[in-house]
Amino acid sequence: MTQSPQGAPALSINHPSLWDSEQFEANWSVFVQALMREEASLLIPAARIRWQIEHCDTFLEVRSNWESLEASNRLGAWKRLLVAAERECRNMLPLCVRCGQCCRMGSPTLHMEDLALLKEGKIAWDKLVTLRAGEPARSPFDGKPFLLTEERIKVAEKKGSSECVFLLTEPYQCSIYSDRPLQCRAQACWDPLPARDTAELPFLLRNHIFEGIDVLLEVIAEHENRCSFQMLAQAFEKLATGKGENIEEVLGLLSYEEHFRHFVSEKFTIAPQNLDLLLGRSFAGLVPLFGFKVLEERDGSKRLVPEASEANAD
Ligand code: SF4
Repeated sequence: MTQSPQGAPALSINHPSLWDSEQFEANWSVFVQALMREEASLLIPAARIRWQIEHCDTFLEVRSNWESLEASNRLGAWKRLLVAAERECRNMLPLCVRCGQCCRMGSPTLHMEDLALLKEGKIAWDKLVTLRAGEPARSPFDGKPFLLTEERIKVAEKKGSSECVFLLTEPYQCSIYSDRPLQCRAQACWDPLPARDTAELPFLLRNHIFEGIDVLLEVIAEHENRCSFQMLAQAFEKLATGKGENIEEVLGLLSYEEHFRHFVSEKFTIAPQNLDLLLGRSFAGLVPLFGFKVLEERDGSKRLVPEASEANAD
């Protein structure tokens, strides 16, 4: 606050009593964004916090009356609003507002209980992906990265994002809401405990999905034997520590795995889009994890280049 020429406190240009509705909105937006930065977390998304604050009685009353408030009453109203906002963001209501934020932060991992959804055709094979032992994953609870010690079956995510493939946009809705997996049903941003508890329940594995289809179980075992994730990781580790001597080994692995997938798809008439469930993510698709990308030359041969490289196939 500045001083008037007479020494009395003068209102700063940014004093609430001087704001019209437009300035009220602008100042509110600055405040609420700062508050969300402080309060939002992996479990309580910013959009959910904002929704609750902007649906509380104090906000609705102050916003709708702002224009007609006496200038002398605006500071008091603004202060009431700030207090209400802080209170609301610390007391999340047990209510899903369908902001879609939790479905954008990652897709669910499936449990044994979800097997029925697959058997009934509620979740198709081509919407699933297997993350194999050794692959990096991120905890849905604290976002921390870790290496999987056992495979996990997950709903696929949209290309280049962590958004679940079943999330529709505008309005944000789950396209399989009544048949969503266990983890999604337990997910509640106002109470993280039920979702955390699902981590104690048995996870779904490929052996469960393909039980009784011996030929596919053999294919999975053979693929693990010849193209495990660890083999790829070790080859890239050698590449990083050596001077590129084993580049042919890496390219050979990529090529072999590609042929394996092609062979399985042809021989057992399995659509290529179902292979990410049966065999896990392709080696070619995993290469960016190691900071590389594969470029295909005009003659069909493959080249491995660092991801940041400007090199291209032309
Ligand atoms: S399955 Fe539905 S509820 Fe679960 S993450 Fe995907 S969109 Fe969200």
